[in-house]
Amino acid sequence: MRDGTADVVVVGAGVIGASVAWHLAALGVRDVLVVDRGAAPGEGSTGRATGGFRAQFGTSINVRLSLLAREKLRRFRDEVGADPGYRACGYLWLARAPGELDILRTAQRVQHEAGLAEARMVEPPRIAELNPAASLDGVIGGAFCPSDGFLRPLDLLRGYLDGARRLGARVRLGEEVTALPRRPGGRIEKVRLAGGEIACGTVVNAAGAWAGTLGRLAGVEVPVAPLRRQVACTAPCPALPEDMPMTLWPGDGFHLRVRDGRVLLLRPTKGAADPFRAEVEDAWIDEVRSIAADRVPALAGVELLGRPLRDVARRARAARPRGRLREPGAGERLLRARRHARSRAGGARGRADRAWRAALARRAGAPADPVRGRRAPRRSRASLKSCFRPSGR
Ligand SMILES: Cc1cc2nc3c(=O)[nH]c(=O)nc-3n(C[C@H](O)[C@H](O)[C@H](O)COP(=O)(O)OP(=O)(O)OC[C@H]3O[C@@H](n4cnc5c(N)ncnc54)[C@H](O)[C@@H]3O)c2cc1C
Repeated sequence: MRDGTADVVVVGAGVIGASVAWHLAALGVRDVLVVDRGAAPGEGSTGRATGGFRAQFGTSINVRLSLLAREKLRRFRDEVGADPGYRACGYLWLARAPGELDILRTAQRVQHEAGLAEARMVEPPRIAELNPAASLDGVIGGAFCPSDGFLRPLDLLRGYLDGARRLGARVRLGEEVTALPRRPGGRIEKVRLAGGEIACGTVVNAAGAWAGTLGRLAGVEVPVAPLRRQVACTAPCPALPEDMPMTLWPGDGFHLRVRDGRVLLLRPTKGAADPFRAEVEDAWIDEVRSIAADRVPALAGVELLGRPLRDVARRARAARPRGRLREPGAGERLLRARRHARSRAGGARGRADRAWRAALARRAGAPADPVRGRRAPRRSRASLKSCFRPSGR
């Protein structure tokens, strides 16, 4: 391996570029170089992602791909030596029109055929158990899958990138790829950066939403179009618990989850003039605030921050114990420290959870312990599993 050359140049240090680098290095490709224009890995979409993971899709290929990804998440710690933060808290879809319910039902048939057996249609009483904070006004039914849930995108990225480095891959940050000159036969012969050139055998386009732009540097049309997403984030608040399922209203795409003590609210932005714009618009926040107050009354009055989500994710990461994983022993020690910290935090989380249920019960005029009076206890993983175990199979 020499400066100015590489067997493979991976453009993009997002989660995909990091994964490609790790897999290549694990397969024995020794001279892998990851290049990104950001000052740190994950400055594209990965550092801004909500961290939702699901297999509830409407096409067989997406379901099967997600099932493979889920297995990968479960093996990640053993294979890569880092914790991807996968937690099976579920995805809960709420339909408010017969057409929406039909779409969920059709998608679920596809999911079952593709092997996602535990996805279930749910009626309003079950929805109230799965997420007592969601208003049932106008809700006629929904779909739920308990093995969907959450992961930590930056932890996944860092796990792969640190693992790739341990296997010999190099990473160059703060360097934009500006040209991909080709040989007469068509192969790319080098990668031109603002600060020099790298002769290479292969280039991997892992530029995410910029993959089309990067492809054009080599005269190749890559059919990737950016889709703008905005995220609103509340101030830290105990209104909802961390293990609340991702809850989605397919009618308009509004959805929410809780992460690091804050509630994240999302809704697709239609027809964005500049899909790469990363600021959150005031008008969009106002819209989302009123939708949230209407559909999740516990959030009425909770302060919303228009700050880009990335800042919040980075601060939360900085507050958690972490370090570079250089060898499996160190990785295991770090995981143990995290598990310990999480189990200590579990008591506080449990108290917040009980307070949340009691507050909801008070609002509804029910007894202070709403859990006891219910048909089935909710939100423990074991109870979800037994509740959705297909009978007779
Ligand atoms: C607000 C938001 C919420 C999301 N929520 C979810 C979710 O809940 N669940 C989910 O599964 N997905 C979610 N996504 C999508 C997810 O974040 C992306 O699919 C994923 O991160 C893409 O990873 P990537 O590595 O392909 O791209 P990126 O992370 O964008 O990485 C591409 C990298 O390429 C670099 N690059 C581009 N061009 C060049 C160049 N010319 N030279 C050098 N470097 C270059 C960029 O700097 C960037 O770091 C969300 C996305 C957004 C924006």
